Amino acid sequence: MAKQQPLHCSFCGRTRDEVQILIAGQEGHICENCVEHAREIILQELPQNAEKSSGNSNFKLSVKKPMEIKKYLDEYIIGQDEAKKVLAVAVYNHYKRLNQKTDSNNDVEIEKSNIIMVGETGTGKTLLAKTIARILNVPFTIVDATVFTEAGYVGEDVESILSRLLQVCNFDVNAAQKGIVYIDEIDKIARKSDNPSITRDVSGEGVQQGLLKLLEGTDVLVPPQGGRKHPEQKLIKINTSNILFICGGAFDGIDRIIGKRINTNAIGFNVNKDMQELQRNNLLQFVNAQDMKHFGLIPELLGRLPVITFLNPLDKDALRKILTEPKNSLIKQYKKIFQLEGIDLIIEEDVYDFMVDKAIEYKLGARGLRSICESILVDAMYELPSQKVKTFTLTKDYAEGKFSVSKLNMLRVA
Ligand code: ADP
Repeated sequence: MAKQQPLHCSFCGRTRDEVQILIAGQEGHICENCVEHAREIILQELPQNAEKSSGNSNFKLSVKKPMEIKKYLDEYIIGQDEAKKVLAVAVYNHYKRLNQKTDSNNDVEIEKSNIIMVGETGTGKTLLAKTIARILNVPFTIVDATVFTEAGYVGEDVESILSRLLQVCNFDVNAAQKGIVYIDEIDKIARKSDNPSITRDVSGEGVQQGLLKLLEGTDVLVPPQGGRKHPEQKLIKINTSNILFICGGAFDGIDRIIGKRINTNAIGFNVNKDMQELQRNNLLQFVNAQDMKHFGLIPELLGRLPVITFLNPLDKDALRKILTEPKNSLIKQYKKIFQLEGIDLIIEEDVYDFMVDKAIEYKLGARGLRSICESILVDAMYELPSQKVKTFTLTKDYAEGKFSVSKLNMLRVA
């Protein structure tokens, strides 16, 4: 009698022990890996299936009034009031435009209000864009402008931005067409010099040119799985007219350009010395399209990013608030982690000041607060679950002790 074969996937041959699920068919079995693989093939071969499934994702646009948007942002982001307000209005108008009934007799066409944000790294640009997408319940993706090159060169095509958006919403084309894309490090694709170059600038001006149509609104054929378009891959058509693009960048050195412009325009001669000094410390608040053009963004691109706003550098007070105040602040998260272990984490007030001082001293900014907390609390999180303690009090002495022996301490900036 023939020996019975062990249960296995009829497609890849993996045995029962090598997979998590084996689904039985009439004459064979299929494992979870092969199901997933088959789904990818279907999406590639029959992109219309993806379109048919439109509306199947959980994204249902929910437009809020600007003041509601700002209030929601306040729960998660400290300060940056100006940027919040500008963004709330731009986003509201964008989606209002989108819901507008098209009327052929009405020749007033509201243009798209893509946004550009200028602010030092770690001041909350990405967080703002992400939080806005969450409140509106639209698909959101972050892309880094530095990975793109002009079409035809080694690197990613700008169209791949849309592949990511599609993936986020499970190929729900309708949802993707109303999504938000955050393009980070837009300053890194600035033209290398003010003069048009003799050699091709494929990762600077070339990419800016590539972005133009996308930002304005056009039909784009998108490879569903990203990467380069190749002849065998079926493409999905996406219209970008209603996709909101938010760009962000640190624009290192733009303050000098702004300062020069302000001085030559003789603005500020009427204000007193203190005021002048205060304004000089944060020149970003005066940024305009002209400054960005000087920085190396092409005028056509700037024309498609009509809303400009800035983020303030974070001072000690802001960092202190970031630690404790946002709805899911770092400290609230750590307290929760301890709570799940049945431990009450008590943090003495001066520990917060210590953490903020270190973030400033080591030039780590808001992003560094997390690594500082981690370096201080990692030993406690390692040891306490095995001990039967009900509370843990974090004192400044303890924090200093742990921080001084951590790797972070070696990163001191001269
Ligand atoms: P950027 O995009 O400007 O470089 P991010 O938005 O990525 O900065 O900020 C990095 C992290 O720092 C965020 O995830 C958040 O935890 C914290 N952070 C920065 N700015 C703020 C802020 N204004 N309010 C609350 N948290 C902030």
